[in-house]
Amino acid sequence: MTLSERLYLPEILNGMLVTNYHFFRNLSLHLAHMMGLARNRRAATTVQYPEERKPYSDGYRGSHRLTLKPDGSVRCTSCFLCATACPAQCIYIEAGEHPDPRVEKFPLRYEIDTLRCIYCGFCVEACPCDAIRMDTYVHPRIWGFDRKDFIETKEVLMHRSQVLEQKGREGNMREMLDWYDEQARQVYVPLRPELKTWTERDEPHPWDQQPQPRAIPALDRHHQHNGGQ
Ligand code: SF4
Ligand code: SF4
Repeated sequence: MTLSERLYLPEILNGMLVTNYHFFRNLSLHLAHMMGLARNRRAATTVQYPEERKPYSDGYRGSHRLTLKPDGSVRCTSCFLCATACPAQCIYIEAGEHPDPRVEKFPLRYEIDTLRCIYCGFCVEACPCDAIRMDTYVHPRIWGFDRKDFIETKEVLMHRSQVLEQKGREGNMREMLDWYDEQARQVYVPLRPELKTWTERDEPHPWDQQPQPRAIPALDRHHQHNGGQ
C-alpha cells in the first residue's frame, strides 16, 4: 500500500472525483440532448434496453420457438421428453392423433408458462427431433397483467419460427417492439397524450440504428441433417 492508500482520505476524494465527473458529465449531456444538442455523444454507459441492445452471442438463449416441417406444420411429436426434463415443470402438452397415418402423434396443445420458466435450455437438449429451440434472439416478452397472459401457446411458439424464416433474426425483435408500441398507444398515450410512440415520431426507432445480429445459421439443421425428411 502506498502512503496515500494508507491515509484513506486521498483515495476517498479520488473516488468522489471520478463519481462526480461521470454524474455531471451525464447530466449535462442528457440536458444537451433534450435541447437537441450533442446527439452524437452518449449520455450514459448503460444500455437503454429495449431501445438499444447489444449484439447477442451465438449461444444466447432467447424465447422458445417450435420448429416447423417444410409444409409449415409443427415438428413436435408429443414425446413429452422436454416436459419430463423441465426442472420448472412449466411445459404442458396435450397429445393428439395426427390425421396423417405416417405420423403417430402431434401436440394439440403445447404451452410454456414463461413465469415459471428459468430459461435453462434443458427442453432443447432433451428434444430428440430438434422441435424446440431458443434461438429467437428475443427476450421473454411482457404479455400482460394476468398470470395466464404469460403462457405461450403452440401458435405463439410456431409463429416465432415463421417470423424467423420470413424476416430473419431481427424480425422477432421488430415484432416485439411493435407490440410494445401498440400497448403504449392503447394504455399509456390515453393517460398522457403528450407521449408519442416510436412509430408516431419523425425520427427512426433507435433500435434500427443498432448493430444487427450476425447472420442466422441454417433455419432447420435437423431437416438438413436428415436429408429433408
Ligand atoms: S428452458 Fe428450462 S425451465 Fe424453461 S421450459 Fe425449457 S426446460 Fe423448462
Ligand atoms: S418438443 Fe421435442 S421433446 Fe418436447 S414433446 Fe415435442 S418432440 Fe418431444
